[in-house]
Amino acid sequence: MKGRGLGSEVLIVGAGLTGAVIGRELAEAGQKVRIVEARPHVAGNCHTERDPETGVMVHVYGPHIFHTGDPEVWAYVNAHQRFRPYAHRVRAVAAGRVHALPINLLTINQFFGETLRPDEARAFLAAQAEPGDGPPVSFEECALGMLGRPLYEAFFKGYTQKQWGCEPADLPASILTRLPVRFDYNDAYFSHPFQGLPEGGYTAMVASILDHPGIRVELNTPYDPSMRAGAAHVFWSGPLDAWFGHDRGRLAYRTLDFERFTHRGDWQGCAVMNYCDAGVPWTRITEHKHFAPWENHDSSVLYREYSRAAGPGDIPYYPVRLVAEKALLRDYAARAEAETGVSFAGRLGSYRYLDMDVAIREALDTARAFLAARAAGLKP
Ligand code: UDP
Repeated sequence: MKGRGLGSEVLIVGAGLTGAVIGRELAEAGQKVRIVEARPHVAGNCHTERDPETGVMVHVYGPHIFHTGDPEVWAYVNAHQRFRPYAHRVRAVAAGRVHALPINLLTINQFFGETLRPDEARAFLAAQAEPGDGPPVSFEECALGMLGRPLYEAFFKGYTQKQWGCEPADLPASILTRLPVRFDYNDAYFSHPFQGLPEGGYTAMVASILDHPGIRVELNTPYDPSMRAGAAHVFWSGPLDAWFGHDRGRLAYRTLDFERFTHRGDWQGCAVMNYCDAGVPWTRITEHKHFAPWENHDSSVLYREYSRAAGPGDIPYYPVRLVAEKALLRDYAARAEAETGVSFAGRLGSYRYLDMDVAIREALDTARAFLAARAAGLKP
C-alpha cells in the first residue's frame, strides 16, 4: 500500500458488529487498529445490558435474534460467546385478536375461521391474490400478489405504515420478503438452520471480538476529520451520508423510542407481540426475559416500541430506501466508491437493511479483501 505506510494504524469508526469484526480480522493479521465509538458502549444497536431493577438482560435498542445459514459466521459468534438454543416465535394482535406470525396455516385458518389443509390454503390464498401486471416492485404489490387483501390489510398495512412512516406502495418488496409465508403449522419466525442467543448478551460477545492486543477502542469519541491524518486507511460504519456531511441531502432513516415498564410475573407470555392495527401507536412490545428462558426472573421488564423519522442527533436504526430516494442513494454510493483511503461498511455505511449475520459475513469479506489487496501491493 502506498502513501501513509504499513506501520501506521487503521482507523475504524464505530464499534458495532461491523467495526469489531473488521478490526479483529486486521489485528489478527498484525495490523494495529484504533476504533472510535461515539456511544459509551460497544456493540452498536445490538447492545445488551442488565436492567438495574429486574436484573433481566435487555436488548437496549430492540429485539435482536441471531440466526444464520452461514456455518463460518455461526462458528465465529460461538467462538466469542456461548450461544443458547432459542427459537423465536412472534405473536401479533390484528383486528383485536391474537395470531401467530409469520403467517402460517394456523394464522390462515384462525383468521378466516377455516379448517384448510396445506393445498387448500394455497388455493384459498391464490384466489384472493391480486397479482399486478409485471413482477412486484413495491411492498404493497408484493403483499397483494402473495397474500391477497384481507391478510395484507390485517397484518402488514398498518404495521408497515407505523414502522416506516410511509405507504407500503412506496417501499421496496424486499422488506416484505424478509418474512416467510408458510402452508404448514411451523410458526418459527426464522427459517435458518442456526439460531440462538448469546448467554452473556451481545455486548459481551462484541467485547470478546475486540479483545486483542492490536486493537484499542475509544468510547465516547465521535469521529472528527482530523483523525484521518496518520491513519493508513479508514473503515466507516456510520451513516453513508454522514461521511459527506449530508451535503446532497439526508437519506431517510427510522429511529425508535422505547417506553419501559415493569411487571411482577409474566406480562404477555412471549418475547415479542406485534401490534398490527394502525390505531395502536406502538409497533410491538418486547418482554425481555423471554429471550433468556434459562434464567429465572420473577419480575419482568418490557419495552413498548415506537418508530419515527430520525432527525439530526437521533440514533439511526433502519435505512428506509424509499423507491423515490434511489437517485440520492446512487449519488452517495458513487461518491463512496470513488473515495480513496476509505471503505464504507455495515448497515449504516452501506445503507442496507442487513441482519447481524450478514453484517458479520460482509465485515469478514471486507477485511480479507483489504488484506489481500495490501498483500498484492495495491492501494485498497
Ligand atoms: N411486518 C408487518 N407486520 C408485522 C411484522 C412485520 O407489516 O407484524 C413488516 C414490516 O414492514 C416490517 C417488515 O415486515 O418492517 C420486516 O419485519 P421484521 O420482523 O423483519 O422487522 P425487524 O424485526 O427487523 O424490525
